[in-house]
Amino acid sequence: NAELSALDPEIAAKIDDELGRQRDGLEMIASENHTAAAVMQAQGSVLTNKYAEGYPGKRYYGGCEHVDVIEQLAIDRVKALFGAEYANVQPHSGAQANASVMHALIKPGDTIMGLNLAHGGHLTHGMRINFSGKLYNVVPYQVREDTHTIDMAEVDRLAQEHKPQLIVAGWSAYARQLDFAEFRRIADSVGAYLMVDMAHFAGLVAAGLHPSPVPHAHVTTSTTHKTLAGPRGGIILSNDADIAKKINSAVFPGQQGGPLEHVIAGKAVAFKIAASEEFRERQERVLAGARILAERLIQPDVTAKGVSVVSGGTDVHLVLVDLRNCELDGQQAEDRLAAIDITVNRNAVPFDPRPPMVTSGLRIGTPALATRGFGEDAFREVADIIAEALIADAGADLSGLRHRVEVLAKAHPLYPGIAPLS
Ligand code: PLP
Repeated sequence: NAELSALDPEIAAKIDDELGRQRDGLEMIASENHTAAAVMQAQGSVLTNKYAEGYPGKRYYGGCEHVDVIEQLAIDRVKALFGAEYANVQPHSGAQANASVMHALIKPGDTIMGLNLAHGGHLTHGMRINFSGKLYNVVPYQVREDTHTIDMAEVDRLAQEHKPQLIVAGWSAYARQLDFAEFRRIADSVGAYLMVDMAHFAGLVAAGLHPSPVPHAHVTTSTTHKTLAGPRGGIILSNDADIAKKINSAVFPGQQGGPLEHVIAGKAVAFKIAASEEFRERQERVLAGARILAERLIQPDVTAKGVSVVSGGTDVHLVLVDLRNCELDGQQAEDRLAAIDITVNRNAVPFDPRPPMVTSGLRIGTPALATRGFGEDAFREVADIIAEALIADAGADLSGLRHRVEVLAKAHPLYPGIAPLS
């Protein structure tokens, strides 16, 4: 520790500042979490020095005997966690995992279907200037205007009309469960592959609190750092030997060079934690917290001010707040919560009349707070604080709300064993 603060005090000070920010505020960005100190220890180790192109037992470099064991443990643990026959733990990120699957299974010019970004899809599911939108012919599907849930009849109709080679199911901003069996039926009916991107809800699946896509999809991808609470990274799962083989060569050498063995060690630790009873109990609090928040944000005091919840509630770890009828736009709402030390992100809601940099929504997630030990009472208090902040008059004094945030943060210490660097 002394080495970093002595060598590079500017960076050390900013790491300390970030530790303070995470400790003093409430992190409610739905895609974030506080990974275990043990994961960070694995990640900040000498493994970062090692080149290991290839796979365990088949490397292009010497000296891989220890990283081979580590990567095999990560593979075995993630296979057991999700009941998959094959796993690749090398993708540097969720985007790399998705790129690798497309690289493996389809060719440029082929047609893919994915949830429209403006309706909750991810950039890698076919956004215009993402690789997925540039390389492939994208036919987006969307949510229904009345229910804000995915219109499976429309997915079916578009699939029959456009005969895609790949259908992507998964989302970044959507609060309901997907019908994986129906997605697979549709994919099979047109001879398409089904890729489920469970990046957001993987932790819930691991805990057995959300249906698993793994038995239904040809390929399942995920990030490891959202509900799954591991280091930043990606994974790819499959039950098909031929597909798994294609995916391995699409990841390396198709998309990436040397795997990040320090991150893979962190993934292995995170998969071990995710198989524990403590993790399952934590995910129950994640879900309870999101439900409490959604229920609070449909009470009359907030709806009177034009605040509501997309799809009327949530089945997962996040709530999409609908501000289309509210004077406050997404940017202003994000800023207002930031002013009381609650970090969230503004997010477009389906059929959003405001521009993408402003938006009419907030995406609020509970995983990081659940990791910090929040239970139902604490989530009730957070939900009240957020509701009161959103309905406050412009220019109102928010110091009382900010103080209540401080009390909650202090009552749920974060990384008590980690000392500042300087
Ligand atoms: N897939 C989904 C559904 C996501 O929400 C995200 C990130 O937000 C990704 C993939 C990409 O992950 P990464 O940021 O690690 O590239």
